[in-house]
Parts: sequence; structure tokens; C-alpha cells
Amino acid sequence: MKCDHKFVDSNHCLKCGWSPLEQERQMTKELIEHMLTSLETPHKELTKWEEDFLGSIGEQFKSRGTLSEKQTEILERIYSEKTA
Ligand SMILES: [Zn+2]
Repeated sequence: MKCDHKFVDSNHCLKCGWSPLEQERQMTKELIEHMLTSLETPHKELTKWEEDFLGSIGEQFKSRGTLSEKQTEILERIYSEKTA
């Protein structure tokens, strides 16, 4: 049965435990994985700076599973420029 979600003073549904924040985190994670994978074979050549940046956030993402908002922003920019 589909849960209609009930929230009281919490980000988790009282009935099923579902969390919109958790879901958003998961979606962001999948998006970052997708962008990092795509940029392993970019359509346009990466600059040295971009290669270094991707190398360092790739390591961080592998060990911590997250990136800062700023890093994600830059990643998105490189992704849209180089894989379009
Ligand atoms: Zn629920």
C-alpha cells in the first residue's frame, strides 16, 4: 500500500521512514556519479586544471561519498561544457 507520508517535527515520515532529504541526497549522488563517469571520456579536451580538479573530487567522492555544493557546481559546469 502506498504511504501518504506523515511528518511531525522531523524530516522522516512517521509511518514509513521516507525522507525527502534522503531522496535528494541519493539523487545528487547518482548525478555526480554520472557526471564523473561521463567526464572520463569527454567530447572536448579538458584543461589541465579541469583534469586536476576532476581527479581530486573523484578521490574525495570515492572516499566520502559527497562533494561540497561549490564542487558540485563546478563539476556541473565542466560537465555541460565538455560532454555537450
Ligand atoms: Zn510515509
